[in-house]
Amino acid sequence: MRILVTGGAGFLGSHLCKRLLREGHEVVCVDNLFTGRKANIAELLNDPNFEFMRHDVVDEFKVEVDQIYNLACPASPIHYQYNPIKTTKTSVVGAINCLGMAKRVNARILQASTSEVYGDPDVHPQPEAYRGNVNTLGPRACYDEGKRCAETLFFDYYRQNQVDIRVVRIFNTYGPQMLPDDGRVVSNFIVQALREEPLTLYGDGSQTRSFCYVDDLIEGMVLAMNQDEAVGPINIGNPDEFTIKELAEKVLALTESPSEMIFKPLPEDDPMQRQPDISLAKEKLGWEPKVKLQEGLERTIPYFEHLLEETAEETAKV
Ligand code: NAD
Ligand code: UDP
Repeated sequence: MRILVTGGAGFLGSHLCKRLLREGHEVVCVDNLFTGRKANIAELLNDPNFEFMRHDVVDEFKVEVDQIYNLACPASPIHYQYNPIKTTKTSVVGAINCLGMAKRVNARILQASTSEVYGDPDVHPQPEAYRGNVNTLGPRACYDEGKRCAETLFFDYYRQNQVDIRVVRIFNTYGPQMLPDDGRVVSNFIVQALREEPLTLYGDGSQTRSFCYVDDLIEGMVLAMNQDEAVGPINIGNPDEFTIKELAEKVLALTESPSEMIFKPLPEDDPMQRQPDISLAKEKLGWEPKVKLQEGLERTIPYFEHLLEETAEETAKV
């Protein structure tokens, strides 16, 4: 198949492009390189089945493809809050452009939605039927509401135009290819530990997240795209839940770092708990994550070690 991946030069997108190429597909990667990097796809640029288009999904574009994975959108709070109006446009106008294209070329289209549609949840763990608790006015709303509106658009194109949609709600995912300055908690803690700087815990570190290793996530996303049982939304994530302090302790132990923990104010509207109910993914996709947090961190730490060594060598040359 010929497959479009928007946001294909980002963290998840670059893993997805590699996976699809390995399966023998042709891949068109569309990315404006806001939070993505050419380095993430450098090894693919000479592959005749891979094509990179630097383009912003807010502006219309045309590609003839069989499937579309719509991942374009900054995902880290510091990045999506940098230009919140642009973030909403990327989710909403980007979805309209991709759905219009799916309609024209008759392609199946999958939306990378998010656990953020549940906001700061008062139901725990979160099943797909839970409608969420999002503050429409807060600093996270550009992302949360943009993604909620994108889901609405997907289901309206499905009902009104019979577009062949799939929607997955992704929970916190980590792994190699994340940017060292991405701002999300796993990359921040690993980089701080390796640099022997203090680990910055926001609040008292008692808030929870459930961390999914990237390979498991990509497997779930590809399975969701290629089945006819459920259009979604389907939660994809790892249900093993940890406090942020427990994560910090694990990272310090695995890196054998002498860093201390320091506590900073909790950002506004930061969800206090998050854990996916993955019953639907198990039932409809036969999917569940395989990689435990300890093992995922052991695979991720060497990537950051290598990246920091490279940066240090480049700085030394200058
Ligand atoms: P990322 O920031 O690494 O990747 C996003 C990519 O989209 C980047 O390459 C960026 O340059 C590109 N992009 C942003 N705005 C664009 C625009 N207007 N036009 C074209 N390209 C644009 O983040 P990620 O973690 O890889 O997330 C990918 C998708 O998965 C996002 O849609 C995100 O909301 C969703 N998601 C990720 C997680 C996670 O934990 N990683 C959790 C929930 C949802
Ligand atoms: N967090 C933290 N220190 C950091 C970065 C994040 O304590 O250096 C916390 C953050 O406040 C949140 C959790 O870790 O409670 C997950 O943050 P992230 O930005 O990774 O994802 P999200 O909040 O979108 O789930």
